[in-house]
Amino acid sequence: MPASCVCGHVTLQAIGTPILSLVCYCESCRSAARQFEQAPGAPSVLNGYGGVDYCLYRKDRVRIVGGAEHLRDHRLTEASPTRRVIAACCNTPMFLEFTKGHWLSLYRDRFPQGAPPLEMGVMAKELPPGSTPAENLPTYRTRPPRFMIKLLTSWAAMGFRKSKMNR
Ligand SMILES: [Zn+2]
Ligand SMILES: [Zn+2]
Repeated sequence: MPASCVCGHVTLQAIGTPILSLVCYCESCRSAARQFEQAPGAPSVLNGYGGVDYCLYRKDRVRIVGGAEHLRDHRLTEASPTRRVIAACCNTPMFLEFTKGHWLSLYRDRFPQGAPPLEMGVMAKELPPGSTPAENLPTYRTRPPRFMIKLLTSWAAMGFRKSKMNR
């Protein structure tokens, strides 16, 4: 399935079905989203419930098809093992990579209509008091066993090999 930035310069191709599609309510995802939304021309990143929607894919199933020269890394802190990658042409966040992991989290809004459906909400314990997570999804305070099992199963299918993005 193709994914692209708002202006269309950066295009990715995600192959097959995602490992998992979810809403993350963690503080890091929410504060990065708020920062990204302030950039000129940036799309909205937070969903209506204050979380961020992702589709998780195996790293070896995501290809940068075009516009790689526009991609910029963003880290919340210098030492953070997580980088969020932005298309600088139009300030669109594209994906998140936990450097040591075997998966990439693509910002779900980057897909055109027909993006894989959301399956769960995670890290709801980090929502500010008084906010309510999406009620049409099973929502967990942290990352539930099902999340871990899906990640492990997909890593097993890769022969427990670490895979790296080519950039
Ligand atoms: Zn763009
Ligand atoms: Zn998060």
